[in-house]
Amino acid sequence: MISRRKLFVCAASPAVASSAQRPRFIAVSSSNGLACTAKAVETMKAGGDTLDAAIAGVNIQELDPEDTSVGYGGLPNEEGDVELDSCVMHGPTRRCGAVASIRGIKTPSKIAKLVMEQSDHVMLVGEGAARFAEAHGYRAENLLTDKARLAWLTWKESLGGDWGPGLDAPPGGAPGRALLQRIPGARPEWLAWARETAAHPPTGTITCLTLNDQGEMSGCTTTSGLAWKIPGRVGDSPIIGAGVYCDQDVGAAGSTGRGEENIRICGAHAVVENMRRGMEPAEACLDALRRAARNYDDDRGWLSGIGLSFYALRKDGAYAGASLWDRARNDSRRRSRFTVNDGGESRSEDSVALFER
Ligand code: ASP
Repeated sequence: MISRRKLFVCAASPAVASSAQRPRFIAVSSSNGLACTAKAVETMKAGGDTLDAAIAGVNIQELDPEDTSVGYGGLPNEEGDVELDSCVMHGPTRRCGAVASIRGIKTPSKIAKLVMEQSDHVMLVGEGAARFAEAHGYRAENLLTDKARLAWLTWKESLGGDWGPGLDAPPGGAPGRALLQRIPGARPEWLAWARETAAHPPTGTITCLTLNDQGEMSGCTTTSGLAWKIPGRVGDSPIIGAGVYCDQDVGAAGSTGRGEENIRICGAHAVVENMRRGMEPAEACLDALRRAARNYDDDRGWLSGIGLSFYALRKDGAYAGASLWDRARNDSRRRSRFTVNDGGESRSEDSVALFER
């Protein structure tokens, strides 16, 4: 039996902007969103639409080969193919679009918007999504960087199957050296990272929620999903109501973390509906996390392997980030955080947390 004290730990008070101090432009994002939120606010200040602002923000991570959880450079599925998921929701027109398991296109968020605007559908998947993008002028590219390939092959060879040096291999080869030779762009200092990534694939994803001075709001989430996933696996990120939900009469919410848990509770939708019923953003997110925990009977042993976070932005500018756990599983020094920009420098804030590690 878990005590209430242990169950509901609020590590920080929710950030609430009174109407007097309400920022004119605000962007809220996951912890990797420092550049994203700055770009989103800059775009809105220049007169850009709230969805274009969110997409311009997440494009930075999608195009960054060093971000191994989003877009180009994302860690691949078990067969070495990078499959990307994204969805967008546009508050002013109440429209939305999504792509899932799309290959070869670095910026799935843009294709999600294209689906919203240039088709009579909400979601396209796999080859159909890629062909739709190509029909609109996007060129399919190889998204697997040398670094991601090194991590994937390291993982493949760690499984104890037939991949990697065979029984007849000459003795004494340093582990990983052969891999470095086969990937000409790989650097020796990547090996330690590749081993760690193979053993403990990091989670990632980026969500961006935006609000402008007209009260218009939008949201976007984009990811390469879980590393080493079964081809065709789709998480929460491209699911409207899970990865993102936006109703600018109320607010917007997004999510990162283990998508399977979020899909089960329609998390982003639950957060927005909680705010509609009067909950503060932090409490709205914590309530959704409680539902995810309830699916495991609040068993902290089971839940310890799960990372899940929500981000909420209310129409009055109040915002919050909330996580299942206060700290990362593999690195207890890493606090669960999120990012906000309300017109100045982007800043990182502590998320509230349901459980303490
Ligand atoms: N939510 C993503 C997914 O399940 C992964 C993540 O955020 O790390 O695909």
